[in-house]
Amino acid sequence: MRQRDPQGLLDAIAAEIRGHVPCGFAICEQATNLVPGEGSATAAVMLVGEAPGAREDETGRPFVGGAGRLLDDLLAEAGLERADVFITNVVKARPPGNRDPKADEVAHHRPWLDAQLDAIRPSLLVPLGRHALQRFAPDVKISAAHGRVIERDGLALFPMYHPAAALRNPRLRDTLRADARALRGAL
Ligand code: URA
Repeated sequence: MRQRDPQGLLDAIAAEIRGHVPCGFAICEQATNLVPGEGSATAAVMLVGEAPGAREDETGRPFVGGAGRLLDDLLAEAGLERADVFITNVVKARPPGNRDPKADEVAHHRPWLDAQLDAIRPSLLVPLGRHALQRFAPDVKISAAHGRVIERDGLALFPMYHPAAALRNPRLRDTLRADARALRGAL
C-alpha cells in the first residue's frame, strides 16, 4: 500500500487554491492573493479562522496582521509555535472591506478546507470565532463552548474566540489567554 503523504496533499491543495481563478466569485477574482494556509502537515493541532484580511491578502499568508500577532502570543501561552500547528481559514479569499463571508462563499471554499482536514487529520481542531465554529458545530454558540473540548462528527473541537474580537474588545483578551492555557492542558 502507498504511504499517505500529508505534505504532498497539502501542497497540491495549496497549488489548486492559488491557481483557481477565474471562477465567477468576486471575492476570489478580486483577491490579490488567495491564502491556502500554512504550517505542519503532521500537526496535532489545526487552527481555522474566518477569512484573510488586508495583510493576508497582500502576502498570501494567514494571520500576519494584528490578529496574527495576538494569535502568536496565544500559541506561546499554549506552549506551541506556528511551526507546530497548521493555520488556515474557512474562506481563502479576503471579503471586500473585511465583511463577513457569505454562505455561498463558504460553500464555494468548503472542499478545500475539507481536503486540508483530511490531509492533516489533527487530534484537535481549534475554530477561531463564530464563523469557523459554525462550519464545524452549527448548533453551538462560541460564548457557551469556548475554552473546552467538544466532540462533533468524530472531531475533537476546542473553540476559541477570534483574536480580532479581542483587539476590538480588550476584556476578551483575558478570556482568550485563559483559553490558550486550557488548550495547553487539553493537548
Ligand atoms: N483573520 C482571520 O480570520 N484570518 C486571517 O488569516 C487573518 C485574520
